[in-house]
Amino acid sequence: MAAQIIDGKAVAAEVRKQVAEDVKAIVASHGSAPGLAVVLVGEDPASKVYVKNKAAQTVEVGMQSFEYKLPAETSEHEILTLVQRLNANPNVNGILVQLPLPKHVNAEKILNTIDPDKDVDGFHPTNVGRLWIGERTLVPCTPTGSAILAKKAVPSLQGLNAVVIGRSNIVGKPMAALLLRESCTVTVAHSKTKDLPGVCRTADLLVAAVGIPELVKKDWIKPGAIVIDVGINRVPGENGKTKLVGDVAYDECAEVAGAITPVPGGVGPMTIACLLQNTVTAFKIQKGIKD
Ligand code: NAD
Repeated sequence: MAAQIIDGKAVAAEVRKQVAEDVKAIVASHGSAPGLAVVLVGEDPASKVYVKNKAAQTVEVGMQSFEYKLPAETSEHEILTLVQRLNANPNVNGILVQLPLPKHVNAEKILNTIDPDKDVDGFHPTNVGRLWIGERTLVPCTPTGSAILAKKAVPSLQGLNAVVIGRSNIVGKPMAALLLRESCTVTVAHSKTKDLPGVCRTADLLVAAVGIPELVKKDWIKPGAIVIDVGINRVPGENGKTKLVGDVAYDECAEVAGAITPVPGGVGPMTIACLLQNTVTAFKIQKGIKD
């Protein structure tokens, strides 16, 4: 039987609709909408596109968008000062510093200066700790989006054998923490894992976050498994053009999987939607509002 294709664009639209409703309720009760500040340093073309999309979607759901576009030569001290100003600004509920930062800037120092309650990327060590000990927190957007998509395939993830390929701080590790919170039995595989295909074949839920085009093959997939492809890889396409592919060989894996996300149109669109959701959560945390 052909796999269920999990439509990330449609699910992201549902998440944004819910965020827009939450924002309306907040405006009605508190008189003003949550605000998201995005800081972009330099001219990285991909980052510029992300920041433009984030700002447009922030406004679309009725939130306030604050954009700070700084030249590549901006000093670390100036960026730190801006982050501290945003921390103190009551109209700003979420702060996102777009990565990568220029080489002369210590990204870790900048990210660790963001008030953890405004850290809508969920990268601050305080939020990493809160996630692992199961406290209410701001969870990184891409893993959150991936978990929402997995739940479109089955009503509950409880008890599933989950394999996450990749152990980065922004995807693999928080993904593992989230799935553990969903009561999955979690294995984290990485570049040093022995017999990766064999490990993957144990997965009822497989999340690939590696950055290697079409690494995961059909015979790595347990029949009926849920496959969430986080990878975004640009590869040569037809007629001298390029195209995007994931970390999963989509066509062949879709023949065996029970449900699968495409690339593009899977996890990608979920990331900004979850960022907006996190901004609402940040507002609620700051105002002491329960979920
Ligand atoms: P990363 O380079 O920081 O981490 C990659 C991980 O893959 C590492 O932990 C490494 O151990 C593991 N790995 C490398 N080679 C491997 C191999 N041969 N076998 C098994 N594991 C291996 O990357 P990242 O930031 O976690 O991103 C992973 C992918 O997800 C990239 O393609 C990236 O573009 C994509 N991504 C997508 C979104 C989105 O919004 N959809 C967001 C973030 C990242």
